[in-house]
Amino acid sequence: MTDRYWSSMEALGLDELHALQLKRLRWVTKHAYDNNEAYRARFKAAGFHPDDIKGLPDVVRIPVLSKEDLRDTYPYGLTCTPPDTWIELHSSSGTTGKPVTNVYTEGDLRNWAEVMARGMYAGGLRPGEKIQIAYGFGLFTGGFGFYHGARRLGAMTIPTSSGNTKRQIRLLADFGAHAIGATPSYGLHLAEVAEEMGMERDDFQLKVGFFGAEAWSDEMRAKLEERWGPGFRAAEAFGLTEVGGPGTSFDCEARTGLHVNMDHFLVECVDDEMQPVGEGEEGELVITTLTHEGFPAIRFRTKDLAMMDGERCACGRTFVRHSRILGRRDDMMKVKGVIVFPRQIEEAIMGVEGSSENYQIVKFNAGPFLDLRVQVEPTPAAWRAGAQERLSAAISAEILSLVGLRVDVEIMEPGSLPRSEGKAQRVIDQTK
Ligand SMILES: [Zn+2]
Repeated sequence: MTDRYWSSMEALGLDELHALQLKRLRWVTKHAYDNNEAYRARFKAAGFHPDDIKGLPDVVRIPVLSKEDLRDTYPYGLTCTPPDTWIELHSSSGTTGKPVTNVYTEGDLRNWAEVMARGMYAGGLRPGEKIQIAYGFGLFTGGFGFYHGARRLGAMTIPTSSGNTKRQIRLLADFGAHAIGATPSYGLHLAEVAEEMGMERDDFQLKVGFFGAEAWSDEMRAKLEERWGPGFRAAEAFGLTEVGGPGTSFDCEARTGLHVNMDHFLVECVDDEMQPVGEGEEGELVITTLTHEGFPAIRFRTKDLAMMDGERCACGRTFVRHSRILGRRDDMMKVKGVIVFPRQIEEAIMGVEGSSENYQIVKFNAGPFLDLRVQVEPTPAAWRAGAQERLSAAISAEILSLVGLRVDVEIMEPGSLPRSEGKAQRVIDQTK
């Protein structure tokens, strides 16, 4: 630990980091080739051999891995160490098909704890402090990722898991957590309920929240900071079940993107043809785990859209950054010829004075075409002031100016839309 960073690795020279990445990329491809038949067959079919990796750019020669590939090999098809080396398992919810599983060896858990500790340290959590973990504990990676990381950091974990909101808030005040981990939508819901309970900023010691597992806008982040009050910072943790959970990247005080834990992950940004795009150009993130033993994900297509930035960050870390997630390929909607992401709609809603963070996007069929309707709850004050019509028009105009699309905006009574304790479901699909 240095004063500024958790690990001196975070400010290692880029040449050294690239050399380390190359060494580990060779290791992980050979590990998969030697120890897993399915990986070997995939590599052979693509005409790739681990010896072909001479430099980092050769990564493009490795075949990409999709979520469907992982489902096809469910549950243990791409694991590369014997079952008696596995000590923990996590899995996606499988709501849209077969779940994706990930197994961890002792070494994998150690590395996971390390990358999580870096992000929490960067967010301001210090050894000896306390973190309340309101992410779900269970197969979901959120709860345990922060648990392992906080233990590594030397912070006390208060593993409340998600739900039981009023009790959650009382414990937050009573136990005096300095940090909280939750999805951004649950973080806001907690703030909303705390307000209803008559709690004030001084009742809490909170200085930072670690939010993730949803694509959330800058406006949502501003709302979280405003709701939790002065001195509270909404920090971001990024990762996916397929690459081991949160911990791939984290944000720093400079807020110019998320630093990739380069010694453990190689992150590419590619176009539709899987070719690298330049810095500052939007593309899909493709992630290779460089140190995972149990289940290495090699060139996993995340479907998350972002931009890379290799310029040295003001915080002094040398780790490259990717922008916040701009949207997910799967969430992209084409409405009346316009490409729209839910996050853009969120941005528009939250940019209008008087709207709350509670909203829903309803997809429906208008004849042969897809159309959208947006439902928004105003703040209680705006509702009482009877500003419904003005608000509806203002949000509609904001969406038109930001996205170029005219949609109906329905103003809902405060408290009428469903609240989420985990990942929020913002898009309601009525087309099926
Ligand atoms: Zn930085």
